Amino acid sequence: MKMWKISSFSLSVLLIFIICMINNPFSSAFAAAAASSDHELSSYFESTSCCLKNKETTAAETELIKSRNQSSSTRQKRRRSSQSEEPSDCTVWTKECSDELLCFAKKKENFEWIKSVRRRIHENPELAFEEYETSKLIREELEKMEISYRFPLAKTGIRATIGTGEPPFVAIRADMDALPIQEAVEWEHKSKIAGKMHACGHDAHVAMLIGAAKILKAREKYLKGTVILIFQPAEEAGNGAKRMIRDGVLENVEAIFAAHVSHQHRTGIIGSRPGPLLAGCGFFRAVISGKVGRAENPHRSVDPVLAASAAVISLQTIVSREANPLDSQVVSVTSFNAGDDLDSIPDTVILRGTFRAFSNTSFYQILTRIKQVISEQAKVFRCSATIDFFENKDTIYPPTVNEEYMYEHVRKVSVDLLGLENFRVVERMMGAEDFSFYTQEIPSAFFFIGIMNETLGSYHTGHSPHFMIDEDVLPVGAATHAAIAERYLYDRKL
Ligand SMILES: [Zn+2]
Ligand SMILES: [Zn+2]
Repeated sequence: MKMWKISSFSLSVLLIFIICMINNPFSSAFAAAAASSDHELSSYFESTSCCLKNKETTAAETELIKSRNQSSSTRQKRRRSSQSEEPSDCTVWTKECSDELLCFAKKKENFEWIKSVRRRIHENPELAFEEYETSKLIREELEKMEISYRFPLAKTGIRATIGTGEPPFVAIRADMDALPIQEAVEWEHKSKIAGKMHACGHDAHVAMLIGAAKILKAREKYLKGTVILIFQPAEEAGNGAKRMIRDGVLENVEAIFAAHVSHQHRTGIIGSRPGPLLAGCGFFRAVISGKVGRAENPHRSVDPVLAASAAVISLQTIVSREANPLDSQVVSVTSFNAGDDLDSIPDTVILRGTFRAFSNTSFYQILTRIKQVISEQAKVFRCSATIDFFENKDTIYPPTVNEEYMYEHVRKVSVDLLGLENFRVVERMMGAEDFSFYTQEIPSAFFFIGIMNETLGSYHTGHSPHFMIDEDVLPVGAATHAAIAERYLYDRKL
């Protein structure tokens, strides 16, 4: 598969690794870099040569520096640059450029600052379209960095700009809203708002994007176009993405990326896939009406219970008999309400449920068939039906589909930044994301970034009151965002 092709970078890493091992078979630092274990990701980051000034140099690292320094004068220049405050121009993108971005994010003062941003947001979670303080905090940080922005979009949303102000424009998006969940994790920066919690990691998304803003601002004079940073409200409820698009957030933007933290991958692992990644999600509520009557004389009533029961059974044939087995889809009836009178046949039954699919075609085909099946089954039993898909209440999410070349860009940047062993091609997931609205407008890619660390206890699923993240992900996410944006502009100008 294309995914596992060995790049020239991988070969050079392998060569350096072999040289290091010959010189010192017990060298630990680069052995950690080469090890594929997820556990050793952080030791790889620490061993990255441009971070050496923050720690003691091991023999293996010295060898690594020597071999790299001998390889080219450009690299020497970059090494000097990465150890100074001045970023290198990366007119030819190499591994050292990626290292420089990662090291900048991992600098002690930058890491502490990203963490403090995340913690302040975590302590003060705000629900959909109420992210006033979160938005204010973001704007204050942007102002400190002298980054211009547009505000408000979709009530609390922000569109920040870094770069030339000229095309091409590439966007990265973070969502800002929390959930109506009481935090059960006892820690110093626990949510201070009763019944509200950042249980989906959107606090980390904001912090990583603010971190990326700092990196990109420091490198602004080298950007070959414009980076748009999108801080979006109401991902969990209310289709904030749709409102942001309506308010012009994608103006001039030709491509967009976003990340979501994942408890399924170890800290710092990047995961994505080309094509459909997350399902489209819709809900329905059907009212089946008949004629009320005494249960002992059913012939004098028109029974909606029977009609609704037949409808439930028939709904299950939409996927099992009409959908391609290779095209995963779901129709689930999750509520059946006929009242609680044991002595009479009710006049109405209310059915509720949800449906999922990975393509817009399948998604809207299911929607059409749910409507047909319920109304036609109602007619068979002399009843009538009305079906509501809540389209006006923003509860429909289309599928999230990654454009092939956009996914490939994420893969290439991640592998260069973090190593092949820290990238995964992930399975499709039945969950939904309102990032899908952006994917309907312009080429897009969505990816996951791991936060799982058993020692810390960050292995609970999102939307759990026990959800927590490994904050070591923050600089990794910041560097990944920045590298994705900068290299997108760089590649476009090639
Ligand atoms: Zn969520
Ligand atoms: Zn989320």
